[in-house]
Amino acid sequence: MIVIALGLCASVLFFPGSKIRWAARHANSEKPVYAQNLECLCRTGVSDKPWEYIVIHHSATTKGNAARFDYYHREKRKWEHGLAYHFVIGNGSFSGDGEVEVGDRWKKQIHGAHTANADCNRVAIGICLVGDFENTDIPTENQIESLVRLIQYLSRKYNIPSSNILQHKQVHQKCTACPGKNFPFAEVKTRLLQIASKRNNLMLEL
Ligand SMILES: [Zn+2]
Repeated sequence: MIVIALGLCASVLFFPGSKIRWAARHANSEKPVYAQNLECLCRTGVSDKPWEYIVIHHSATTKGNAARFDYYHREKRKWEHGLAYHFVIGNGSFSGDGEVEVGDRWKKQIHGAHTANADCNRVAIGICLVGDFENTDIPTENQIESLVRLIQYLSRKYNIPSSNILQHKQVHQKCTACPGKNFPFAEVKTRLLQIASKRNNLMLEL
């Protein structure tokens, strides 16, 4: 959800340089959508940006996909680069349930427009799950599974620490509930830790 409300969020984070200091395609039918090959999906052909954070959002709409959000951001908001996020994870409405779609900003490795703070947007990968997790929806299991896999892949690739994986509402800026009270952030972090732990155990066994 792109922020338009005023106010301050409770958590404070610090991004250097800030004026205000503050802290896939549809999967084939034979496989669950979260079996997408993320390495192929995330390949860009341009130099990687040194990403430092991952920020999780909900769309605050019950339906949607990357193309629809891109249209809204490009045509209604008049944002030159369109879709504010780098990735969108579908809920089965206009893309697959758990399908990861890659935005142009990721393909071009350029800044997002997913928070109200430009310093954050320069260094933070924006991932949006389709759904209104504040009011009417909860993420599907496929969405959570895809999100965990995507974060795990990106955080390893760019050496992003667990402490830099944030919900939008943790960013100190104009206040937002994004990604909503129904978003299971603790469960996502637990799953990420479990994956990291399994990987470390495997490394020790080798
Ligand atoms: Zn948001």
